[in-house]
Amino acid sequence: MKILVTNDDGIHAPGLWALAAQLTRAGEVVVCAPDREQSGTGTAITLHRRVRLTQVDSPLASVRAYSVEGTPGDSVLLALRMLEDVTMVFSGINRGANMGHDVLLSGTVGAALQGYFHGVPSVAISVEAGRAGESTNFEVAARLAPLLAARVNPNGAGPLLLNVNLPNLPLERIGGIDMTRVGTGGYSTAITMGRDGDSDDYRISIGKPRWSFEEGTDIHAVDRCRISITPLRGELSTAGETFLPEDLPSALFRDL
Ligand code: MN
Repeated sequence: MKILVTNDDGIHAPGLWALAAQLTRAGEVVVCAPDREQSGTGTAITLHRRVRLTQVDSPLASVRAYSVEGTPGDSVLLALRMLEDVTMVFSGINRGANMGHDVLLSGTVGAALQGYFHGVPSVAISVEAGRAGESTNFEVAARLAPLLAARVNPNGAGPLLLNVNLPNLPLERIGGIDMTRVGTGGYSTAITMGRDGDSDDYRISIGKPRWSFEEGTDIHAVDRCRISITPLRGELSTAGETFLPEDLPSALFRDL
């Protein structure tokens, strides 16, 4: 098994190396990750400039590492082009949960999506960030990764995209693992205004979470001190209530 490991917190993030180290139990590991923090970049790819890829020193003897001057999505695209026969992509371990609406903003999930789009079974893993003064515990998430790799059978039935979120707790305080659906709500964004010469400028930052705690969701599971595994797929259309008038297509077409 050849496993590509990437993230959106950047190649120096401790969560990335905790994940890579544990995955060496499951197979050959290659790290290819952004050269700096790229949180919030979703599935973005860099189209309008050249993207530099550099082989860098790896803290793990058996693991080759590459740094990319681009997004998590770029890292996966370039690695899949450079490497042959990647069996799985693992993205993370992100510092901070990626649940609810944040699944669509997350570079951690975005990198996994790029793997999935290319037919490679892909897993995003995130841990709730420690509160101020509290460290983030990557250990349980890292241990889970090779177990998942061994059990989900990368050559199995169909395309695979999993979004895994863990509470920031040691194993003895985690109650179990739930298969979940994506919840609603996410981190709010805070905007502060500044002034740069003649123009206004703004800083966008992450505020407090505004989560909805419906049962069966990723948010609910992690809130109950459980690990959440959400199977995703690339198709975003809704199967249920759309809140649109039933005659919308015919009325629109008539008025055209
Ligand atoms: Mn991140």
